[in-house]
Parts: sequence; C-alpha cells; structure tokens
Amino acid sequence: MKTYQMLVDGAWVAAESGKTFAVMNPATGEVMARVPEAAAADVDKAARAARRAFDEGWRDVTAQERGRILFRLAEQVRKDAKALAELETLNSGKPLMESEYDINDVATCFEYYGGLATKLHGEVLNVPDNALSLALREPLGVAGQIIPWNYPLLMAAWKIAPALCAGCTVVIKPAEQTPLTLLELARSFETCGVPKGVVNVITGFGEAAGAPLVAHPAVDKIAFTGSVEVGKRIMRSAADTLKKVSLELGGKSPNIFFADADFESAVDGALFGVFVNQGEVCSAGSRVLIQRPIYRKMLDAMVEKAKRIKLGSGMDPATKMGPLVSKEHMERVMRYQEIGRKEAKVASGGGRPREAELQKGYFVEPTIFYDVDNSATIAREEIFGPVMSVIPFDDEKDALRIANDTPFGLAAAVWSRDIFKCFRMVKRLQAGIVWVNHMQPTYVEAPWGGYKMSGIGRELGPWGAEEYLQVKQVHINLNEAPIGWY
Ligand code: NDP
Repeated sequence: MKTYQMLVDGAWVAAESGKTFAVMNPATGEVMARVPEAAAADVDKAARAARRAFDEGWRDVTAQERGRILFRLAEQVRKDAKALAELETLNSGKPLMESEYDINDVATCFEYYGGLATKLHGEVLNVPDNALSLALREPLGVAGQIIPWNYPLLMAAWKIAPALCAGCTVVIKPAEQTPLTLLELARSFETCGVPKGVVNVITGFGEAAGAPLVAHPAVDKIAFTGSVEVGKRIMRSAADTLKKVSLELGGKSPNIFFADADFESAVDGALFGVFVNQGEVCSAGSRVLIQRPIYRKMLDAMVEKAKRIKLGSGMDPATKMGPLVSKEHMERVMRYQEIGRKEAKVASGGGRPREAELQKGYFVEPTIFYDVDNSATIAREEIFGPVMSVIPFDDEKDALRIANDTPFGLAAAVWSRDIFKCFRMVKRLQAGIVWVNHMQPTYVEAPWGGYKMSGIGRELGPWGAEEYLQVKQVHINLNEAPIGWY
C-alpha cells in the first residue's frame, strides 16, 4: 500500500505532525493508500510558499510561458490518461468509462486555459480629457482552492487551470476521500515547468486543513465547490480578511418533461440526468417534473430501465453505476431513502442492493420516488446520490412554479418539441445553466455556476479566469502643463 506525501514549495513532504489518514476504495471498503493529514502549520507553509512564488517570480512570467505550461500539463494528462482514469475509478467508485471521459475533460480544460492565457487583456477607455485611461487586468495573487470528491481531478483542473492562466499561484486541498489523482498529477508539475511554490497540494480534513487555508492572511481568494453549509462557513471566515470568494454549491435541479417531448429521449434524459456518476453531481436533475398526460407512461418506462442499471465495481466494463464515495455518504443517502419512503411512493429501488458481492462496497440502488410533493424533504434537500423525485405538473405555469420553488438555482432542463414553449421556459427558469432537450453536457467554453443559493461566481470559459483577476485603473496624463487649480 502506497503512502503519499504532499507538495509544498516544490518539495514532497509529510505533515509536520507525521500523521496520515487512510484513503478507501469505495467498491470494496478496503484501504488503498495513506496520505498526510495536514494541519494549520502545513497550510501556513504552503500559503507562504505560494505568496513567495507569486511575489518573487510568477507574477512576471509571461502569458505565453504560462500558456505553454498549461499545454504541457494537458499533454501529460493525455499521456497518463489510462492510469489516471483507473485510479480515479478505484478511489471515487465511478464507472471507468466516466473516469475516462473526466480525464479527457481535464486535459481539455488545461488546453483551453493554455490558449486563453494570451487572450486576457485590458481596455482603453474614452475619458473626456487629454489622457490615456486604461483598465488593466492583474492576477489576484494567491488562490486557496477547496474541492469535493465527485469529480476529483476534473474539479482540480477547473480551479488550477484558470488560476495559472490568470497568473495566480495556488494552494489546493482535495477532498479527504479522493486526493490520489491530483497527487499523481502533481508529480509531473516540475517537468511541465510549474515553478516551485506555484501550485501546492495539501491533503487533510476540512476543519483542520481547509479552514486555516480560508483564514490565512497570505491567501487573496478562495474558490470552493461543495455543500451549502461549508460554503456559508467559508464566506463568513473569509470576511475577516476580506478575501474574494467564489462558491459552487450544488442544487436540486428540475428536469422538466412536457407531453410533446420525444418520448424515448425523455426517458433516457431523465435517468441520465440523475443517475450518471451515481447521482453525485451538483447539477443532478433530481426533481423530475412530468406533465400529466405522459406521467404514468414515462414513470413505468423509467422504472423498467432503472431496474436494469448494473451496479458493480467501476473497473468492470459492464458496470453502469458504481458505489457511493464513502460509507458516511452512503448512510446519508440511505437516510434520505428512508425519509422518501414516508413522504412519497417508491417506484424502484429504495435501499441497498442484495447481491452478496456488493455488500462490502458502498452501493445503493438507483431509486425512483413518485407522486412527490415539491415541499417534501426529498424534493428540497440535495441528496447527492441516485435518488429521483418524480413530480407531476399540469401546464407551463405550473411547471415553472414548481421548478423555481427551491432555494437552489444551479441548473434546469426542459424537454419539448415546441421551440416557443422551450424559450419561454428558458427565460423564466431561475438557474445558472439551462439545457433544452438534454441534461448534463458541460463544456469548458461555457459558464458554470449558480443562481440563488447554488453559489457565487462562474467557473469555466473566460468567466472562470475573471474570478482570478482584478482590475486596475491607470490614468496617464498627456497634458504637460500644471493642473492650475491653486
Ligand atoms: P463538504 O462541503 O463538507 O466538502 C467539500 C470540501 O470542503 C472538501 O474538500 C472538504 O474537506 C472541505 N471542507 C469541509 N469543511 C470545511 C471547512 N470548515 N473549511 C474549509 N473546507 C472545508 O461536502 P461533503 O463531502 O461533506 O458532502 C456533503 C454534501 O455536500 C453532499 O452530500 C452534497 O450534498 C454536497 N456536495 C456538493 C458538491 C457540489 O459539487 N456542489 C460536491 C460535494 C458535496 P474534507 O473532504 O476533508 O471534508
């Protein structure tokens, strides 16, 4: 079993305390590695290293060179894609095909921001004076980044790539459950030309390692993806040092099916929307709204297909759904299944699978609850597992009322052949991402982030880089005479 070290100031180090913790394979419940358990002292070293790296060199590295480093990282990811995808599956549980898809997206993300580095520029402003007025874009400085376990390396790429593109340095903390792929990739940082201290990776728990990163005075910005509760805590703590904060906090996204939608696509789209990645997806379409004329028919068709979803180790090519990430999370999802059984009717699943070979892993059945009232707990709270709440609706107005009646606003999808109806819905849905006749496709070129309690700021595309930049106004007086005021 491998014991990892973490990357601080270009060196591979243990935690100062010498403590480590176990990283599990969720399909078997076995320990697969140990990693350092960082605490405030380790975070302090990493934050100071990132500060030094920013002040003493990285801020002067040209955009072209930063771009080249990002391209090299992309190339490295493509070279190591097979090993990274396998490790991602072993550590997170997701089917290998999904990990392969994610790792390809990781490389694409580094490529995109490699290209964008030389396209970030300022503006010349038309001020009413004999002057040159400029708005320059400059890097914020040191970025602290805290990421979750559902797309481990992809979430790291979504944060590291725009930060380097913008010229920031980084201290990143992966989730305690899934630190391995980032640690593996970090072994290539030096050969890809990332100077020491520019990206530091610390492993540890949220309270002990994440919280000191948020509070650290050398850190200028925090980028976080995870739960609303922790997001709020981060915002409160960041207020003390007035850090910029960007938050991506998940949701309870409506996936809306009108009676005139293509039926087969609708059934597939509803299942994919919430069962992909075991439902551990911030944009999961966990509220499936179906118009009454097709309600029963679509429910039956979804149940029929859901029952055939093959659970198993992500390494088995036949597997369509892996285990949940941890025992703790499995128990959390099972508590929601229990609540759901009291609040609504069970159409499919509702517990743990019975097969003997699945007992050691953290598997739960793909579950469909129906006749769910939108006020039910299973329609309001983010479950982050393979649990679908099916809700009937009458017409467009009713669908909108239900869809927007949630504290969240990350994503929504609408399915219909009527383009006018689709556009009316698009305009009224309160969500940062709206899909029409699809759910979940995500591209590095397009903005990602939430309305309402789903977060603050946007990732990906040029918006992602903006989160790591600040604007400096420069006024260059072209009059050679004195102001002449006094
Ligand atoms: P958390 O929000 O607790 O964890 C996300 C990240 O934040 C992890 O790296 C975690 O570290 C870190 N963290 C935890 N507490 C603090 C803190 N006080 N200060 C700084 N960082 C901290 O999510 P969970 O893993 O506990 O999952 C719980 C629920 O959150 C899920 O069921 C789901 O509903 C939601 N979630 C949403 C995600 C999204 O994509 N929007 C992703 C993951 C979860 P550590 O791993 O050590 O706890």
